[in-house]
Amino acid sequence: LTTADLIEEHRICVCVRKRPLNKKELSMKDLDVITIPSKDVVMVHEPKQKVDLTRYLENQTFRFDYAFDDSTTNEMVYRFTARPLVETIFERGMATCFAYGQTGSGKTHTMGGDFSGKNQDCSKGIYALAARDVFLMLKKPNYKKLDLQVYATFFEIYSGKVFDLLNRKAKLRVLEDGKQQVQVVGLQEKEVKCTEDVLKLIEVGNSCRTSGQTSANAHSSRSHAVFQIILRRKGKMHGKFSLIDLAGNERGADTSSADRQTRLEGAEINKSLLALKECIRALGRNKPHTPFRASKLTQVLRDSFIGENSRTCMVSSFSSKITCPRWWNLFHRVKEFGISP
Ligand code: ADP
Ligand code: MG
Repeated sequence: LTTADLIEEHRICVCVRKRPLNKKELSMKDLDVITIPSKDVVMVHEPKQKVDLTRYLENQTFRFDYAFDDSTTNEMVYRFTARPLVETIFERGMATCFAYGQTGSGKTHTMGGDFSGKNQDCSKGIYALAARDVFLMLKKPNYKKLDLQVYATFFEIYSGKVFDLLNRKAKLRVLEDGKQQVQVVGLQEKEVKCTEDVLKLIEVGNSCRTSGQTSANAHSSRSHAVFQIILRRKGKMHGKFSLIDLAGNERGADTSSADRQTRLEGAEINKSLLALKECIRALGRNKPHTPFRASKLTQVLRDSFIGENSRTCMVSSFSSKITCPRWWNLFHRVKEFGISP
């Protein structure tokens, strides 16, 4: 089975990606507790102790559509996840790609590109790689004759509120009409003519996302960033690709946090990730009710979860070094997004 077949069958592809350890983590030299023995299996080695105090490892395996080890490049991850979905939007479909995982696990690196060093480079992130292929696809004779225009939006959802990252974080209202069509009022939709145009927008949006923060991860880790590539034909929507850098999933579990604001944020994130799971699971099934309204994120993405031609992929990033109580539950939670056996 190829990825395309898998997606065809399930309409959802669930993958995990292990990030490499950084210098500081490498210097600690302890046991690597999560390994990827083959291209679709993750093995968790849980240290345990017998009654007589002998130590041993209990190994648990989890299977995904793909498991990318720490030597995998963004380009490779992209090729097996978002790449097959580019065609979807040319075929009048809706595509969605999510980066899920704890803060510090590599979501922004996967979606936005490399922001670690001085040379910030967004050209290797999934946002940019998808844009590159949209412009390549546009040149194919079959699609060229459609005379499609390409637009991009970039916004953030924080504590249930929507902010436009291409318009100085203007706060936007979300309206739903009688036909349940959802509209983000005043959202800037910028026309883009080439990959370079898109890179510029990503840079604008990213700097807007992290501006005014003491730590780059402080606020952005608690918000969802949504980057969209929209194809229009004679003004009418033809297809849409939504690429989403989700809020860190650790906050939900963290209900004992002292301050009220953090607790509220955590509750909101929990709610949206739960709603997202329900909506993704309902994809492709004839479920009478999909709980879009349960969160701003799913409400805004409503049109991506309905229709015959909707496809989703999820890349859940993790690191062997991020620890929280029972962290391996992440893999149980991630699996729940998929409907593959
Ligand atoms: P998140 O967005 O999930 O909080 P980041 O993407 O900011 O995490 O990643 C945390 C740190 O790890 C950053 O310094 C980032 O550059 C680095 N990093 C993440 N993934 C990779 C990777 N695959 N290769 C190299 N560095 C990575
Ligand atoms: Mg991030």
